[in-house]
This record gives sequence, structure tokens and C-alpha cells, in this order.
Amino acid sequence: MKNLSVIGSGVMGRGIAYVAALSDFQVNVHDIKQKALDNAKSYIENEFKKSAARGFIQAADVDKAINNLTYHVDLKESVKDADIVIEAVLEKIELKIDIFKKLDEYCPAHTILATNTSTMSPTEIGAQTSRADQVIAMHFFNPVHKMKLIEIIKGLDTSAETVEITKAVGARLGKETVEVNEFPGFVTSRMNCLIGNEAMNMLLEGVASAEDIDKALKLGLNHPMGPLELADLVGLDSRLRNMEYLYETLGEKYRPCPLLIKYVKAGKLGRKSGSGFYNYEENKG
Ligand code: NAD
Repeated sequence: MKNLSVIGSGVMGRGIAYVAALSDFQVNVHDIKQKALDNAKSYIENEFKKSAARGFIQAADVDKAINNLTYHVDLKESVKDADIVIEAVLEKIELKIDIFKKLDEYCPAHTILATNTSTMSPTEIGAQTSRADQVIAMHFFNPVHKMKLIEIIKGLDTSAETVEITKAVGARLGKETVEVNEFPGFVTSRMNCLIGNEAMNMLLEGVASAEDIDKALKLGLNHPMGPLELADLVGLDSRLRNMEYLYETLGEKYRPCPLLIKYVKAGKLGRKSGSGFYNYEENKG
């Protein structure tokens, strides 16, 4: 395993590219928007420098990791030598299927095609390719460089060999893995979306302020982050898409909170837009 391609250079794609470059993969990052690639490049290089300044990585490793990265708007170019591709575009099934059909055409025969979907079906995505046995979900967590877990989700036709290779890639990226049989929302998204939605409903009902809901879960239930600050970190648009998918597949329990829908309509998407349940003006972009 030498060449790893990342499709989509948003919040997750850039994080995956960052850890992969540090783990000595040759990393090709693709996005349809040049601006998104430019932002990802400056984010990644800045993160390397911050980590070196804090002593988490050696200065010599920074140059090496930066040299491991290339950025392309041309999808074909970015995956032509890939051993594994990790897709991290928006959580829309039609978009993911369209990309996987292209990946199937452009990638070498041995390439494993992984999706970083939070909720969706690797079986459905894999069925649209000629290599369903090599399609799998690798669900990373945000921020990728800090979070230890990757959920590995096996589709109906995913081979045991693909699962083993994917786990080995996870280990090389410095992560722990859990193996999950496909079901909407897997283990973590299903649980986390429900907690977040309940917190939003409480806020809507006036049960407590955002700060106090988050404080209650952190200090009373020992959650490392409050559910509302976590939703802001994830991105409220991404969270809404996850809720819509879970509502569609698992039913009423997952109906998205009206407050979440209202915030997304207002363009309040959390940290990435500068405001959500909290304000982050200085971190905007
Ligand atoms: P994002 O909106 O930050 O980034 C998505 C990127 O995909 C954008 O840069 C966009 O330009 C690009 N893109 C859109 N269409 C494309 C195409 N056709 N080809 C190439 N690039 C394209 O989204 P995100 O938060 O990084 O989420 C990406 C995926 O990761 C989603 O499936 C999401 O559910 C999943 N995920 C997100 C989180 C999180 O905390 N944000 C955590 C785990 C998994």
C-alpha cells in the first residue's frame, strides 16, 4: 500500500489527507473546486506547522509529509495509481454512487474503494460498481488527527480480504478499528445523531440554554464534548443530511429537530460558517 487518494477536500477529506501524509502514504487529494483544494492545502500545511511547534511531530517530518501530498481537480489523474481511495464528499447517495462509478472506471483493478459516509450503505454504493467485493465504508471521526477510531463497515459483498486490508490501513494511520455489519447509521452515527437531536429538541422546548445542556452532558454524563458543540463541529448541514437519512431508513425516532432545519436554512452551519448553536466568528472559513 503506497498510494492513497482522497475524494473531497472539506472538513473530513483534509483531515484524512493530513494523517495519511504523516503515515507516509503518497496522497492525492481531489475536489471539484480548486478553491476547496487551495483551502485544504493551506489548512493541512498550517496544521503540520502547529503540530511541529507543539512538539507532536518532528520538523523534518513536516517537509516529508508536505512532499507526500498532491492536489488535483482532475479525478482521473488523482486516482490512476491508487491502492486505496477514500471518498469524503457530501452525504448524498446519488453523488457518492456517481463518484464510485467513475472510480470503478478510472482506478486499477486492485484498488479498494472506501467511503467515509456517516450513515449510508456501502452495499448500495458497491452494487453500482463491478467490484462490490472491494467496496467498504471507513467512517473516520472529526477532527481526524485527534480521534482514535475508524468504524469499518462491511457491505453484503465486501470480501474478508478487503476488510483485513482496510483494517491494516487503519492501523497504519494510527487508528483503532471496529468492524460493523452494515445497518443505517452503523454504531456511532445512530447513537450520536439521536443524542444531538434530543439536545436540540430540549433547546427548542426551553429546557435549558445551549451552554447548560452541553455542560450537563460533559460534567454529569462524562461526555468529552457537549452534543450542541459537537453538532457545530460536525457541520449542521452534514448533521441534517444524516438525520434525514436515518429518519428515512429507521423511522420517526430520527425526525430532524425543526431548530436544526431552521439553522441550516439560515446558513448557520456551525464552526465552518462562523455560527451555529455558538458563535465562532474568529474561526470562520
Ligand atoms: P464538507 O462539506 O466539509 O466537504 C465536502 C467536500 O466535497 C467539499 O470540499 C466539496 O467541494 C467536495 N465535493 C462536492 N462534490 C464533489 C464531487 N463531485 N467530486 C469531488 N469533490 C466534491 O463535508 P464533510 O463534513 O467533510 O463530510 C464529507 C463526508 O464525511 C460526508 O459523507 C459526511 O457524512 C462524512 N463525515 C463527516 C463528519 C464530520 O464531522 N463532518 C464525520 C464523519 C463522516
